[in-house]
Order: sequence, then C-alpha cells, then structure tokens
Amino acid sequence: MHILIADAFDAKLPERLAPFGAVSSDLATLGQAHVLLVRSKTKVDADLVAKAPNLKLVIRGGVGMDNVDKKLCTEKGIKAVNTPRASSVAVAEMAMAFMVAIPARLIEAHTSMKDGKFLKSELKRTELFKKTLGLIGAGAIASEVAKRAQAFGMEVIAFDPYLKEHAIARLVSLDELAAKADVISLHTPLTDETRGMVNAALIAKMKDGVILINTGRGKCVVETELAAALQSGKVRAYGTDVWPSDPPPADCPLLSAPNIFMAPHIGASSKENLGRIGDEVVLILQDFKA
Ligand code: NAD
Repeated sequence: MHILIADAFDAKLPERLAPFGAVSSDLATLGQAHVLLVRSKTKVDADLVAKAPNLKLVIRGGVGMDNVDKKLCTEKGIKAVNTPRASSVAVAEMAMAFMVAIPARLIEAHTSMKDGKFLKSELKRTELFKKTLGLIGAGAIASEVAKRAQAFGMEVIAFDPYLKEHAIARLVSLDELAAKADVISLHTPLTDETRGMVNAALIAKMKDGVILINTGRGKCVVETELAAALQSGKVRAYGTDVWPSDPPPADCPLLSAPNIFMAPHIGASSKENLGRIGDEVVLILQDFKA
C-alpha cells in the first residue's frame, strides 16, 4: 500500500504509518497512492483525482470536508473520511484566546508598546465575568468553549436548530442570541444555511459594541457587511482564524477593517492536536483494507 501525506501532519506520523505500507510526502508519487492524507491545503478535486488512478481512501485530518469533493470520490469508488473529534479542544482554546485577548486589549497593548507608546490611560479594558456568550452552533468545539466560558463566570446561550438540549448552554432563537450576547462565537460548518448568515440584517439585531469571534468558517460572514459594522463601531471587534480562502485575497475588505484581530487558520494546528489526528489516522488505516 502506498500512503501519500500531502499536507502538514505530526512529524512522527510517517514512522507510525510505516507498518501499513510505503509512506511518502512527495506529491510526484500521487499516481501510485492508494491512500491520500490531506488537511486544508490540498484540494481533492477532479484535477487531483484524475492524476490518482489507484486512490482508494482519502483521509482529511480535521473536521470539515470543504476541500474534498465527496460526491466525486463516491462516484470513483474512493472512500473519503475525516477525523472529526480530535480538534475540539485545540479550536476551543483558539476561540478562548481571542475571547480573552480582545476585551483585555492585549494585542493593542503589545503592539503599541513595541511602537514605543505607553497607553496606560487610553486602553480601557472590559471583563468577561457576568457577560453573556452566544454560541452559533453548539457541537463539539462550541461545547468545549462553553465549559471554559463558564469558568470565567459567563452566562452561555446558544443557537443550534439541530439540538433539542445542551449540557451547558441555554438554547435560544437566533434573534434572542443576537439581542442578549456581549460576545458571539461562530462554530457552524459551512452549509447553504450558514453561508453568509452573519450579514447586515443579523448584525443590526446585535448589541452595540458586540465582540464577534469566528473559528468556524470564513464564508459564514458577509465580509463587506461585517467590515462596514467594524467601521461604524456597531461590532466592536472581530477575532477570526478563518477566511473566505486560505490565504484571503489581498482585496478582502476585512483585512483593512478596524478592530480586526487575525490568525492564519491555525486553530487546529496545536502540537497536541496533530498527535491526536495521527491517532485517528492510525485507527482508520487499521480498519481499511486496500
Ligand atoms: P460539530 O458537528 O460537532 O458541531 C457543529 C454544530 O453546528 C452542530 O451541533 C450543528 O447542529 C450546528 N449547526 C449546523 N447548522 C447550523 C445552523 N444553520 N445554525 C446553527 N447551528 C448549526 O462540529 P465541530 O467539531 O464543533 O466543528 C464546528 C466547525 O468548526 C466545523 O464544521 C468547521 O467549520 C470548524 N472548524 C474550524 C477549525 C479551525 O481550524 N479554525 C478546525 C476544526 C473545525
């Protein structure tokens, strides 16, 4: 069996996969590959599949399958799976990092001191204690965020039309969430329903000065409308790990918007998570017969 590791996985993974067959990270061996491992960078589309006549299994290390054409894989008899549970803690910690750093003004404090400024009286902070966190999507990652936010003394509410109950969050309508939340954190997959769901109409229903955090998918927000809300101050800040594409186009209006705090899609890329993704890949290969 030939296993091709196309994207960045744990450095120890090739050694762990060696008992299953020949392991390579050389994309030139795509034609020989029976198993292809991707994360977000490599797109499993018609072009790639046409160059991989022996391909039987695609493993996407991570939660979403946005970069894998699952319909095409099914048509070609290629099994396509992901590692849905490994990343929950890593991404939840990323959302918490934004949630703590933004009201604490930590990023402005650091960059202004680097610029030789001492903005002790200018940088007014706010606390998370007794504030309301609104989760849009209340699955595995959001649940880890909810636990952590509770430890900060936040009230946690959530909108998730596919859940009847939640262990921590009080489930509410999207309108109630928008009206009550001081911080809103996005945790949905990208679907026809969620694409562009954070638009001018929803933002208008939010509290003035709301903080928005997105570790879900970049296309769940309408960039121009969110950039306008950052410009007007309606949205006080946007902390995002996710983009319409990796990297975003240079003319993405959010890149130049005020009070945006950015990360280059690294939510799932903790050292520990890459190890857990590796554990799930090993289990998948143990069950797979080439
Ligand atoms: P999950 O499947 O456990 O949870 C997703 C939740 O969203 C589900 O409970 C579902 O009912 C809910 N949902 C679906 N449609 C909705 C809608 N229209 N409105 C509100 N809720 C809706 O998935 P998860 O593991 O928690 O991951 C959530 C998302 O996070 C992924 O789909 C992916 O887009 C993103 N993600 C990002 C990174 C990163 O690196 N930043 C890493 C992993 C996952």
